[in-house]
Amino acid sequence: MTARVLDGQALATRMQEEIKPQVAEFVSRYGRPPGLGIVLVGSDPASQVYVRHKVKAGGEVGFRVDLEQMPESATLVDVLGLVERLNQSPVHDGILVQSPLPKAMGPSAQQRVFDTIAADKDVDGFGAESVGLLSQNRPKLVACTPAGIIELLEREHIPIRGRHAVVIGRSDIVGKPMAMLLLHRDATVTICHSRTPDLPSVCRQADILVAAVGRAGLVTREFVKPGATVIDVGMNRVTDQAVASQLFPAGHSRLNSFHAKGSVLVGDVHPEVADVAGALTPVPGGVGPLTITMLMMNTLHAARARVSEEQLSPQ
Ligand code: NAP
Repeated sequence: MTARVLDGQALATRMQEEIKPQVAEFVSRYGRPPGLGIVLVGSDPASQVYVRHKVKAGGEVGFRVDLEQMPESATLVDVLGLVERLNQSPVHDGILVQSPLPKAMGPSAQQRVFDTIAADKDVDGFGAESVGLLSQNRPKLVACTPAGIIELLEREHIPIRGRHAVVIGRSDIVGKPMAMLLLHRDATVTICHSRTPDLPSVCRQADILVAAVGRAGLVTREFVKPGATVIDVGMNRVTDQAVASQLFPAGHSRLNSFHAKGSVLVGDVHPEVADVAGALTPVPGGVGPLTITMLMMNTLHAARARVSEEQLSPQ
């Protein structure tokens, strides 16, 4: 068997084309574009790349995007002050604070910042109110990566109701919201983590297996029931030749690319899984592009919700 490729990049491109006329309609109706405020603190190289992609994608669909950069030396009070200002801003419908924050701010800073973002502007869906609403199955703004995975499963007509979904990973940004979204669509959900005994045999029960771990090629063929749908969230940059050779056979284009560049981006799912799975997301080009597209969707939803709220409130 060779798994059907679930092309996240193609879906992301389609969805962006769907968003553009909706943004144009919003502009003609309300005289302004949906606005997104992005806060970047410090100079983490990966964060800079992610933020650049988000700014570009927002501009392409017609949003106003304002990037607020703060130095590594910024304090938590500085960041909270900026978030409060964006909370009050009439032109910003969505606020995103890129994580991670500088370590010097302390371990609880990140959640404190997420919780300070007004719930109606929390387009990353990481704040306590957004998470609580999701867990009660009355979601408002849902974390972008798991929301994108649901969009992909639904548009690819992969049944969720009554199926057994196994999620590897229990992070607040991927694993837990993913499990909630699957549960609310009537899947039977198992969540695995680093303390789960005999991980392969638990995963082999899955009709839908979501790997959100951060370990290159962890999910091998013995983890996968033949015909299962496998969603690979992992984004791991491999720089070790031995690891790259273990993932790709000699002569494979990805191994050649590793030799040329000194690194290769791989998921948590070993490429050999394509021989067993029924459907599989590639890395790159699977879940990643959808994450940014769902950020655009969330911002549009937030903008619409805010204008209808304004129309309802007494003058
Ligand atoms: P995280 O916060 O580090 O969480 C990783 C989870 O995997 C934890 O729950 C951990 O268990 C579990 N885990 C680690 N080693 C394991 C093992 N050997 N067996 C079973 N479980 C194990 O990571 P994250 O933020 O959720 O991200 C996961 C991956 O997705 C990363 O590669 C990240 O780069 C990628 N990601 C991609 C996107 C995208 O848009 N494509 C978005 C977000 C994240 P414990 O809880 O027991 O420690």
